[in-house]
Amino acid sequence: MKTDIHICWTMDCEATQRAINDAALGMRAVRGFVSVISEAKLHATLFVLPGDAVAYPSLLRDLDPGRFELALHVHPQEEGYDDFCGAYPAEMQRRIYDQAIKKFADAVGVRPTAFRTGSCSANDATFPVTAELGFECCSHSMPGRNMTWLRSNWVSAPQHVHYAHPANRLLEGGLDLVEVPITTDPDSMLWSGSHPQDLRVELFDAKNHRYMIDKVLAREKARPQPIKAIVALTHNTFEYENPSDFRRQTLLQMIADLAELADKHHVNLVPATLSEIAAAYRAAAPAQNGPPWRAGC
Ligand SMILES: [Zn+2]
Repeated sequence: MKTDIHICWTMDCEATQRAINDAALGMRAVRGFVSVISEAKLHATLFVLPGDAVAYPSLLRDLDPGRFELALHVHPQEEGYDDFCGAYPAEMQRRIYDQAIKKFADAVGVRPTAFRTGSCSANDATFPVTAELGFECCSHSMPGRNMTWLRSNWVSAPQHVHYAHPANRLLEGGLDLVEVPITTDPDSMLWSGSHPQDLRVELFDAKNHRYMIDKVLAREKARPQPIKAIVALTHNTFEYENPSDFRRQTLLQMIADLAELADKHHVNLVPATLSEIAAAYRAAAPAQNGPPWRAGC
C-alpha cells in the first residue's frame, strides 16, 4: 500500500509591505498562483499580512474555501513596531498579533485559525501566545534556520508535525496547538550556514528543487510519526499570472516533479491546507494522550 504524504503549498502574501508596496503585483501573483494550484487539483494556505487583507479583500474572500485557506502572517515592522516577532516578550506579542487578527478579520470577514510569523521569527513565548489567541495550528518553524538578526533560530527544531510546547519552541507536546514546520533540508545549508535549503519556488530553478523533492519524499516516507507532510512556499511578489514568468514555470515544474517522484517512491500525495494537515494530526494523535510514538523512545 502506498504511503500518504500531505502536500501543502503556501504563499506568504505581503506585497503591501513598505519595501514592495505594490498591491496590484500582489493580486496578480495571488490570481496566478491560485489558478496553477487549482488546475493541479492541489490545496494551499495563504498567509496574509493585515495590510494585504485590507488592500484586496474581495479577491481573498472569493477564493474556493474547499481548496484555499486564509491564514495570518505578521511582520511587526508593518504594524508600527520596530523589530521581528522573536524580539518581543509574551505580552507584546499578544498585543501585536491581537491587533493583526482584528485588522485581518475586519477585512476578509473571518477570524484566522492558522498563523505564520514573518521570517519564521519566534521565541519561546510565540507558541503559547499563538495558542492563547485561539489559533489551532501554525507554521512558525523553519528547522535548521539560524538567523539571529531575524530572531529566527531553529537549529534542532522538529521536522515533523507536532503539538507545540508551552515553554520551549524546540521541544514538542503540551499545547493544544499543532505546528506544521516548513519543509527544509538542514543537511544543505545556504547563505554562510544560516539558512537550510527549502522548497520556496524563488530560491532555485526547478532542476535544483527536483533533487530536494526526491530527498524529502524518501525522508517523509520513512518518518515514524503518524502524519507525514511536505510544506512548500512562495511569496506574492512574482508575476505568477504571466505564462512566461520564470517563477510560474518553476512552480509548474515542481508540481510535475512532485507527482512523478511520488510515483517513484510509491507515495500517495494528499493535497492539504495547513489546517487540514493539523486536523489529520489531531485525529491520529489526540492531544490528551500525548504523541503515541514517543512511548519507549
Ligand atoms: Zn513574510
